[in-house]
Amino acid sequence: MNSTLLEIKNLQVTINEIEILKRFNLSVKKGEIHAIMGPNGSGKSTFSKVLAGHPSYRIKEGEIFFKGCNILNLDPEERSHLGIFLAFQYPIEIPGASNEEFLRLAYNSKQKFCNKPEVDPLEFLEIINQKLSLVNMSPKFLSRNVNEGFSGGEKKRNEILQMILLDSELSILDETDSGLDIDALKIISTGINHFMDTNKAIILITHYQRLLDYVNPTYVHVMQDGRIIKTGTSALAKELEDKGYEWLND
Ligand code: ADP
Ligand code: MG
Repeated sequence: MNSTLLEIKNLQVTINEIEILKRFNLSVKKGEIHAIMGPNGSGKSTFSKVLAGHPSYRIKEGEIFFKGCNILNLDPEERSHLGIFLAFQYPIEIPGASNEEFLRLAYNSKQKFCNKPEVDPLEFLEIINQKLSLVNMSPKFLSRNVNEGFSGGEKKRNEILQMILLDSELSILDETDSGLDIDALKIISTGINHFMDTNKAIILITHYQRLLDYVNPTYVHVMQDGRIIKTGTSALAKELEDKGYEWLND
């Protein structure tokens, strides 16, 4: 059995003719949690958006295989249905769209793709209510518009709620821990740990070692100037916390 979920080879990506990812390589197996750290502007969010299929980026070279399929020509929704989930660094507000309806449509659209029965609003409420407690969210957030007026921490919890609901095999969390107070960080970490199992993988983009105190990474990577320049274990994150990134260039 091949347990490799994601295989990225020699990825070179530009936006507006500017090269952002430069020979980026990464291999992720089921059951693994990969932390990606690195200075601002090193290309971490670019990598996550390219993986999710953002149309603004141009792939000059390289390959992305997910569960053995080349996904480079797939739309974001096809990638999502196949099992890739991205929690945004900056979750967007969608005025006019109720959170409950948004979540139900996303859920049903995946059910349909997987040839599973779609659920009606009442059945969905039962499903989502169970998930809400995992991220300590009040049902009140279902009737509000998607992220509209949510605090920073509430937006991040709403992203984790989506992740848990869609039950994707590969989730990329782009700085989901940034700006959270310690209680919110614990709630999110508990949600992540509850969600994770041996059939899934998670890529955590983070600046803070403190998240990794709660969610234990299999690997820690340092990204700089569009590529991974160092890979280690959680000890590497601790070293970075003490020493910053400069020493890596010596
Ligand atoms: P990180 O998430 O690691 O902080 P990003 O992936 O957001 O880094 O950005 C990587 C680099 O790409 C930055 O230097 C950023 O300014 C640049 N970049 C991103 N989008 C654009 C764009 N539309 N035009 C030009 N440069 C861009
Ligand atoms: Mg970023």
